[in-house]
Amino acid sequence: MAYDFDLFVIGAGSGGVRAARFAAGFGAKVAVAESRYLGGTCVNVGCVPKKLLVYGAHVADELEQAAGYGWSLEEGHFDWGTLIANKNREIERLNGIYRNLLVNSGVTLLQGHARITGAHELEVEGQRYTAEHILIATGGWPQVPDIPGKDLAITSNEAFYLKDLPHRVLVVGGGYIAVEFAGIFQGLGAATTLLYRGDLFLRGFDGSVRTHLKEELEKRGLDLQFNADIQRIDKLEDGSLKATLKDGRELVADCVFYATGRRPMLDNLGLENTGVELDERGYVRVDDQYQTTAPSILAIGDVIGRVQLTPVALAEGMAVARRLFKPEQYRPVDYQNIPTAVFSQPPIGTVGLTEEQALEAGHKVNVYESRFRAMKLTLTDIQEKTLMKLVVDAQTDKVLGCHMVGPDAGEIIQGLGVALKAGATKQQFDETIGVHPTAAEEFVTLRTITR
Ligand code: FAD
Ligand code: NDP
Repeated sequence: MAYDFDLFVIGAGSGGVRAARFAAGFGAKVAVAESRYLGGTCVNVGCVPKKLLVYGAHVADELEQAAGYGWSLEEGHFDWGTLIANKNREIERLNGIYRNLLVNSGVTLLQGHARITGAHELEVEGQRYTAEHILIATGGWPQVPDIPGKDLAITSNEAFYLKDLPHRVLVVGGGYIAVEFAGIFQGLGAATTLLYRGDLFLRGFDGSVRTHLKEELEKRGLDLQFNADIQRIDKLEDGSLKATLKDGRELVADCVFYATGRRPMLDNLGLENTGVELDERGYVRVDDQYQTTAPSILAIGDVIGRVQLTPVALAEGMAVARRLFKPEQYRPVDYQNIPTAVFSQPPIGTVGLTEEQALEAGHKVNVYESRFRAMKLTLTDIQEKTLMKLVVDAQTDKVLGCHMVGPDAGEIIQGLGVALKAGATKQQFDETIGVHPTAAEEFVTLRTITR
């Protein structure tokens, strides 16, 4: 049977665009439907605008350090409207780049919501299309617990478009987004409280990293409240919001920001017309080649709930394009040693096993840990400490994990990701000549076993 397209991709986000472009490049006839914004979450309400706001907040640090370097500056003034307008302009530029990338690679771009109506059939804005393969790359959506007053809260989707910077913000959650946005709001001048339901935020990260970041954020005046959760939110007469906590305490703020995880975006996707099954967490179930339980339908990215990061969605998109249309170039995605950064202030960079994971996996470990005041701060009164940590297999000498909290952690950890992928040993780290004077050289000069 002749289909309209070889591949029909639903969602022009990180994974969908990558799969579509490369499939078209391999000679396939490809369509992409996008209901909202080209480039998806990462470009519009994720990585990119987030990093721009982090840069904005970081300027406050630079200004604080300036005096130590002899600069006297008039009292600064921050204008949220300017930052958001400039950010929006940059996002529009990127939307245009994504459009060109798709169109120039010969992909048919359809604007509108796609609904699957059969194993090889879809509908976009009332128009019916057929395809040999359908790729679900619809991403995720913020999830807010069902509490009274939840509609008064905002999520990351709205935070990027707030008219004004709120004076007082309650951030709820203890994952990437909560920690990053707490740093953004606080850095830009809002009185910020982070409420996390457990004992310590960033569950799953290395214990030293979690404790170190907690201490540094507290030094910066962020109000961290653990074992705290909101029971209800009410609007007060003056327009501010009252959050009543489960322990009965009441906190008043101008904005309650929820970052309590994301759900797969499956709204009105028509899965009931297919044999696509979901896993026990509600994500699309796929095999190791991203095929769903319906043979003609594949899925990648946040909607499969593996590792919710843009570079992972890109790698999965590439793998699908190759498997379908260039099988001789197919290589499976390697989910081991994925480097990642949390753009908190200071940021976290991490790759490989945490100390806890290494012990749980049965490794005998040597831990090397260093805390120091970065050289840049020595001419200032700022007492922030950088943490660097290596987790090493005591028997094989292989470096199992590298963890950092401190300036440029994301930049530094990328190179260590290559080292870990190559299976580097501690001896090879030691034999690598440092770059002096940098903070990064500490990773190759850690000599004393801490534990
Ligand atoms: P998405 O990028 O979400 O794209 C899915 C697209 O599908 C969307 O454009 C959506 O509109 C469209 N769509 C959905 N349903 C339909 C339909 N039925 N029809 C047509 N179109 C549809 N990752 C990092 O690596 N680094 C970071 O710093 C980082 N920061 C982040 C910050 C925030 C605030 C958030 C929310 C996420 C962040 N992420 C980050 C995660 C990253 O954005 C995601 O992992 C990535 O975007 C997932 O790509 P995807 O292709 O699966 O989905
Ligand atoms: P995460 O899953 O990272 O964190 C969710 C947080 O919310 C956890 O601390 C969780 O607590 C808490 N939580 C969950 N449910 C509730 C609830 N009902 N009540 C109170 N607290 C709750 O999600 P995020 O929303 O922060 O981010 C989504 C994903 O996006 C990340 O996991 C990451 O993959 C990606 N991302 C990546 C970034 C980067 O690379 N820099 C930046 C931003 C996002 P608990 O731990 O107790 O379950």
